Amino acid sequence: MPAQPSQIDLFDPAVLSQLACPACLGGLRPEGARLVCAGCGRVYPVVDGIPVLIAERAEILRNG
Ligand SMILES: [Zn+2]
Repeated sequence: MPAQPSQIDLFDPAVLSQLACPACLGGLRPEGARLVCAGCGRVYPVVDGIPVLIAERAEILRNG
């Protein structure tokens, strides 16, 4: 029987494939305990195991 709920379940590829960035509809990839949009670089927090896919709540990841 399952021992304990795991946050890894959230990042199952099948689940991730159904999630999209609300700002640009880009794909999301897990990075630590957050989800990073591959399209616009927004970083979405995961609160209590639930990804908060709200553009206004996201941080913009700066590259270089
Ligand atoms: Zn995006």
